[in-house]
Amino acid sequence: MSKQHLAGTIVDMLDRAFPRRGRMLALHEPRFSGNEWDYVKECIDTGWVSSAGAFVDRFERELAEYTGAGYAVSVVNGTAALHMSLLLAGVKEGDEVLIPSLTFVATANAVSYCGAIPHFVDVTETTLGMDGTELERYLYDIVQFDAKGDVRNRVTGNRIKAVVPMHTFGHPVDLEALVELCDKYRLVLIEDAAESLGSIYKGKHTGIFGKIGAISFNGNKIVTTGGGGAIVTNDAELARKAKHLTTTAKLPHRWEFHHDQIGFNYRMPNLNAALGCAQLERLNETIADKRIVTERYKELIQGIEGVRLMEEPEYCRSNYWLNAIILDKPNVKLRDQILVQTNKAGFQTRPIWTPMHRLPMFGHHPRMTLTVTERLEHSVINIPSSQGLMYL
Ligand SMILES: *Cc1c(COP(=O)(O)O)cnc(C)c1O
Repeated sequence: MSKQHLAGTIVDMLDRAFPRRGRMLALHEPRFSGNEWDYVKECIDTGWVSSAGAFVDRFERELAEYTGAGYAVSVVNGTAALHMSLLLAGVKEGDEVLIPSLTFVATANAVSYCGAIPHFVDVTETTLGMDGTELERYLYDIVQFDAKGDVRNRVTGNRIKAVVPMHTFGHPVDLEALVELCDKYRLVLIEDAAESLGSIYKGKHTGIFGKIGAISFNGNKIVTTGGGGAIVTNDAELARKAKHLTTTAKLPHRWEFHHDQIGFNYRMPNLNAALGCAQLERLNETIADKRIVTERYKELIQGIEGVRLMEEPEYCRSNYWLNAIILDKPNVKLRDQILVQTNKAGFQTRPIWTPMHRLPMFGHHPRMTLTVTERLEHSVINIPSSQGLMYL
């Protein structure tokens, strides 16, 4: 297919899916059509705007209920949730943490905040998430158990402590394989579920398969609190520690300021939680709408040769947070042309993240062969995916 042709065909497809009528269609916009305004106003009217208040407790309770986690602890953003998850999992300075190279930079940053080393793993073509089978093969080659029973990378000598899969664009990775592998190698499983609120893997919500899961409520995520994040876990003691550590490790007392360790000021303010409560009430409706958006794309993209629409993996119900077109190999060279033409036509599109091992601060970090990541890095294009597309 000629250069002009495929880019033009994709612009045409977007136009047919969602006529713009002069607007720019954003990649992902929040939608506030429920109780958002009332709940936020209530915070202002009562003066409870900061990091304590009824909406924080309610948001945590409802989040735990929705995900089926025993406990949820809300924090200032998803990156902070990841940082706390790693610390609570016992990740220490000098440890290695296995993460996909194909992720948003926050996953790697959070590992670095702990003084630990992100160690990059390849992904699968279907989920764009961590490849458990390849990882197992790789670990078999590079690990050994030390005298304490810890797992060590025999190349670097470092302890390998945790595995952090990420559910790309809301599509669950194959968790079963990873749960098994973590058991076998005594690694802590932490899910970066930043993008997958509402996504189900084999009947259970993502984020609760390992020790801890981290969720994000940034402005572009499926549920937003403006900025925000949460830790979900089934472990009561861990949840208690998370609350303590994110509340400057302050011992509860009516007036005294005692802190028993260096803590963090990572709590979510009540204002943000108020927005979150209203958003959560509508989450199922949001997902239903987003699935219709995807259906519409699916019908139109089926007829275009040389590209495919990313679809939910088997046994999963994805939240379809962000739709992605994947270019077949011969069309990869047309990616930039497609990005230019679609954006020029008023459809916000963007490529997938630069893989972490390409970034200057992570370039020298340990990694397995990243064949699929390097095949995908130039072939994925995200297209407008807001719930609001249903209400143009
Ligand atoms: C959004 C996101 C985060 C971080 O969330 P913030 O709330 O923006 O800090 C982490 N990991 C992934 C994969 C994300 O998409």
